[in-house]
Amino acid sequence: MKPCDWLSEVDLSLANTLQLPARAAYFCAPATLNSLQDCLRQAHQEALAIQLLGGGSNVLLPEYLEGLVVHPALKQWWLEDQGDTLLAHVGAGVNWHSLVMATVEKGLWGIENLALIPGDCGAAPVQNIGAYGVELADVLEAVQVMHLADGHLAWLTAKECAFGYRESIFKAELLGKVVITRLVLRLKRHAAPVLGYGDLAQRLGENPSSLDVADAVCQVRSEKLPDPAQLANAGSFFKKPLVSAEQAKTLLEAYPAMPHFAQQNGTVKLAAGWLIDQCGLKGARFGAFGVHHRQALVLVHFGGGNRPELLAAAEQIAAEVKARFGVLLEIEPRLL
Ligand SMILES: Cc1cc2nc3c(=O)[nH]c(=O)nc-3n(C[C@H](O)[C@H](O)[C@H](O)COP(=O)(O)OP(=O)(O)OC[C@H]3O[C@@H](n4cnc5c(N)ncnc54)[C@H](O)[C@@H]3O)c2cc1C
Repeated sequence: MKPCDWLSEVDLSLANTLQLPARAAYFCAPATLNSLQDCLRQAHQEALAIQLLGGGSNVLLPEYLEGLVVHPALKQWWLEDQGDTLLAHVGAGVNWHSLVMATVEKGLWGIENLALIPGDCGAAPVQNIGAYGVELADVLEAVQVMHLADGHLAWLTAKECAFGYRESIFKAELLGKVVITRLVLRLKRHAAPVLGYGDLAQRLGENPSSLDVADAVCQVRSEKLPDPAQLANAGSFFKKPLVSAEQAKTLLEAYPAMPHFAQQNGTVKLAAGWLIDQCGLKGARFGAFGVHHRQALVLVHFGGGNRPELLAAAEQIAAEVKARFGVLLEIEPRLL
């Protein structure tokens, strides 16, 4: 017998921002650690596979998810005063953008550049969310996780999370093994603006508040990125590729205008959107999907498509980039 708070045969097409057609055999949204533990225990008893789903803004869902989809709904968060800094303890089910706005409205600094990133806090460490020169790793102190196998709780320090560009231990050793239940972020009381990215600085006056920065970020993002509520998408569809310094040098000889960002480890990050654009694919249509006309990094869903069609379109785009630049594009959203 399934618990009464589990839903069965749940339509998830509006629970993923790409609006891919999807159903879950079972779905639950535990709001406390105890109910999450009960959920995991029950799933084991019933021999059901567990899939985690936050806000659905970084996933490619299949048409049918057998087993149990768990949507962590732990929504409490609070601040702990530590003098010059504060610790924000944040439940996995808190909406990320709401958290950003609540902290900047209190005058706190640290996550203002990450405003308007869709999704829940529990998924933020999975790909180490980042934007406008800031990554979650810059402010994250610790992550609380619950092990799916036996429901026990554990803490990981930021170092143990092994963060990299769009990478973490949650995509590697701990993939499919834990549910993130809480984040601890260190925020500052004193101004610490990071304005080096794009034209953020030009949009702001002198001594901006963290709220001003968050507002400017929201403005830039709204101008550049399609709103998933208006046009289904999952944000950047491809990661920015990292190439060797030698490959970057060769490419720059052929394409001197190519945007490139030297990394501390000697590799060079390229702009996937620019590479796609150079292949003449901005605005290109692939059946129900397309490359967004303003931001080539974003694939949009016009309706009526499915995951295999989307993956075929992505493959075609990646093949054109590979043929022209010799650079491999990797998909950013997670295939559940
Ligand atoms: C318009 C748009 C703009 C975006 N801009 C950015 C950006 O600027 N920078 C950026 O980094 N990302 C960006 N993204 C991607 C996305 O918003 C982030 O990756 C976000 O953190 C995903 O959160 P989510 O709750 O929607 O996760 P989901 O899509 O639900 O899940 C993502 C992955 O995390 C896993 N997961 C979810 N919850 C948990 C949990 N509690 N514990 C363990 N695993 C879990 C899922 O199983 C899945 O593998 C954008 C997306 C969109 C649609």
